[in-house]
Amino acid sequence: MRIGALEAGGTKMVCAIGDENGKIYEQISVPTTTPEETMPKIIEYFKDKEIEALGIASFGPVDVHQDSPTYGYIVKTPKLAWANYNIVGTMKDALNVPIGFDTDVNGSLLGEVTWGAAQGLTDVAYITIGTGVGGGILSGGKVVHGMLHPEMGHVKVIPAPGDTFAGRCPFHGNCLEGMAAGPALKDRWGKTAHELVDIPEVWEYESDYLAQACVMLILTMSPQKIILGGGVMHQMHLFPLIRIKVAEKLNGYLETKELADMDNYIVPAGCNDDQGILGAVKLGLDALGQ
Ligand code: ADP
Ligand code: ZN
Repeated sequence: MRIGALEAGGTKMVCAIGDENGKIYEQISVPTTTPEETMPKIIEYFKDKEIEALGIASFGPVDVHQDSPTYGYIVKTPKLAWANYNIVGTMKDALNVPIGFDTDVNGSLLGEVTWGAAQGLTDVAYITIGTGVGGGILSGGKVVHGMLHPEMGHVKVIPAPGDTFAGRCPFHGNCLEGMAAGPALKDRWGKTAHELVDIPEVWEYESDYLAQACVMLILTMSPQKIILGGGVMHQMHLFPLIRIKVAEKLNGYLETKELADMDNYIVPAGCNDDQGILGAVKLGLDALGQ
């Protein structure tokens, strides 16, 4: 089975061909500039690939409600060229195959649930910490969309002890994304994360904010596992710091077998950074009813 997968990101569009076993046969990457420039290249790639379906996992916000008149659109976005862009309609007109569609972070969540660190689980949270912070939730075996889709990167966080950075979110200042995404590290410290590896405060603050996010999720959706992905989480030394702070913040309030095994509870993604594109494959499979 040949399934097309499009991981539509703010800086690049990854196009791939995969199958029902989570195998990726080939992939290319196209820079995200304007729809007029970018989309024809994507269509050209998929055109002769004989795919049976296409999955699209897109940066957002996007409209994922199938009964909505703007289903399949990228809606309001700071990337103005893409605001109100009908990405599903464009691909459908060009390829005429079933199309599955969701946010990029829900795509990564699906990739992890299907082929990664959360296989077999029904209640899972996936947070990506990269250029922004986004979160996806699987609840009772279903990806949560709700009114739009979760935007948990924008929940407020309490400033970590000693942190005077005001935050950089244009909407909220010191929300999780404003305090903990890659660009927040750069603004706060004047250097990129790679250059800050040896400075303990950097990771004290960072782990504090990510632990706050984990605790919020634990107390609201009761996940069986929390997966942390995205560029910033390549700093693997964050994981033990986050686990300790989560336990401190919960302060013994909950006793579960999952929380007793913290090393297997708050974990890195298990798809080798392919969770996004694999999630798009899964969206394509789901569109086929497979
Ligand atoms: P995006 O969020 O754009 O999809 P990434 O998840 O790769 O892409 O996130 C990019 C952000 O992650 C940048 O702000 C970058 O500084 C940061 N980043 C990338 N790699 C690393 C790394 N190895 N360690 C720490 N931060 C990183
Ligand atoms: Zn915000």
